[in-house]
Amino acid sequence: MSDAQEVQKLYLLVERLIDRDAMKVFKVLYEEGEELSEYDIIEKSELRGSVVRRVLNLLAEKGFVIYRKQRHPEKGRIIFYWRINYEGLPSVIVSRKRATLEKLRTLLASEEETQYFVCPLDGTRYTFDEALEYEFTCPRCGSPLQPDEDRELRIELLRQYISILEADIGARRRTVPR
Ligand SMILES: [Zn+2]
Repeated sequence: MSDAQEVQKLYLLVERLIDRDAMKVFKVLYEEGEELSEYDIIEKSELRGSVVRRVLNLLAEKGFVIYRKQRHPEKGRIIFYWRINYEGLPSVIVSRKRATLEKLRTLLASEEETQYFVCPLDGTRYTFDEALEYEFTCPRCGSPLQPDEDRELRIELLRQYISILEADIGARRRTVPR
């Protein structure tokens, strides 16, 4: 994967985790490649000061950026200087992937453990216990519930996503032969 694609993925990650304004601010800092004062960021991002301050704090909280404080030589005010947290970024990304991997593993475990029933009309899903309680009739529309035949496909897809992520993170666990 090219560097440009990696950077685009990083922008998307910021947008998804925070919002579009955060992505714009992150982009300004990334493209500038060096430390910027809060005022430079406000000017370059063309966002309001309150918005920039809000997203900078969120970006710092999630480990995407870091700052240092310095007193302005003439005005005497404290000024915040911000930059990309280059050293910390890889671990931010890996920890996001680990969180996703955990979610997928939980999903897979629940898919494997539970037989679901679906409504053929509206696609809602019910566990066996729920289906039993509703007498195998959709509580929404009254259609007869049917065993979920897409389950195998979903399990297969989840396994594929999990192995892609595991290979990516390099956290593949030793599998015990069954
Ligand atoms: Zn239904």
